[in-house]
Amino acid sequence: MTAQLIDGKAIAASLRQQIAQRVTERHQQGLRAPGLAVILVGSDPASQVYVAHKRKDCEEVGFVSRAHDLPASTTQEELLALIDQLNADTQIDGILVQLPLPAHLDASQLLERIRPDKDVDGFHPFNIGRLAQRMPLLRPCTPKGIMTLLHSTGADLHGLHAVIVGASNIVGRPMALELLLVTHRFTKDLASHVAQADIVVVAVGKPGLVKGEWIKQGAIVIDVGINRQADGKLVGDVDFTSAAQRAAWITPVPGGVGPMTRACLLENTLHAAEQLHN
Ligand code: NAD
Repeated sequence: MTAQLIDGKAIAASLRQQIAQRVTERHQQGLRAPGLAVILVGSDPASQVYVAHKRKDCEEVGFVSRAHDLPASTTQEELLALIDQLNADTQIDGILVQLPLPAHLDASQLLERIRPDKDVDGFHPFNIGRLAQRMPLLRPCTPKGIMTLLHSTGADLHGLHAVIVGASNIVGRPMALELLLVTHRFTKDLASHVAQADIVVVAVGKPGLVKGEWIKQGAIVIDVGINRQADGKLVGDVDFTSAAQRAAWITPVPGGVGPMTRACLLENTLHAAEQLHN
């Protein structure tokens, strides 16, 4: 292996420490703790794990964490009413609806009901539009965390050729707005795009999709994919061992982008409390 690891776990831990410090200062100034409400509908096992992590993170940094665990039978109207109530709650700075939702619910309508200044996931069309116009209010957590990881390498990112593999609303598209380029499942000859890239961000959900030999020598490789193998081990979308022999920097899975996404959710909630709700 020649690539240096981008240690998302350590960078996220240091970000959490800074956030916890700021919460302590707020207490000393007589200000309340930032508050995050997390809505979980149904019992999707992966969602339960993600939500448990988010709540633990809140506790660690001293945020108020509100749990709304609702049965899969919850109606759209009940959820809209809950979001309205949280929108009006002065103790709550961030509202997060854990996706995916059960099929009978309309996720877009629910996400658009969240007040943009409490949309700490950054998925509301207002926040995506502000990001597109380079006036971000609250930025989507995974792409935002990836920007922090890229800057942590110390590389000058100006003018670098970036390729993003995957174009979902929650990762690829907002990442494209941060970096300005994207490929997707209809892209012809993905390998040749990746081979030209100084920065490669892969967010697809297919293990081994990006081969090590595609990677340009000295590139920065960010692997967003999370795939669980039959043996229970987590792997990304990039063939790590061979890619690490060509890249200058690479994120591991686990321990790369995942912890940063969680830390950026805390960062956004603190930002909402300090800049949008004071
Ligand atoms: P998604 O299924 O919504 O989107 C996948 C995208 O990949 C689509 O745009 C599709 O066009 C594209 N794609 C599919 N096959 C392709 C191919 N052969 N070549 C090029 N593009 C192709 O997925 P998502 O929600 O964006 O998540 C993607 C992966 O990232 C998953 O493994 C998910 O678990 C992971 N993820 C990780 C984090 C984190 O914090 N680490 C956050 C979100 C998602």
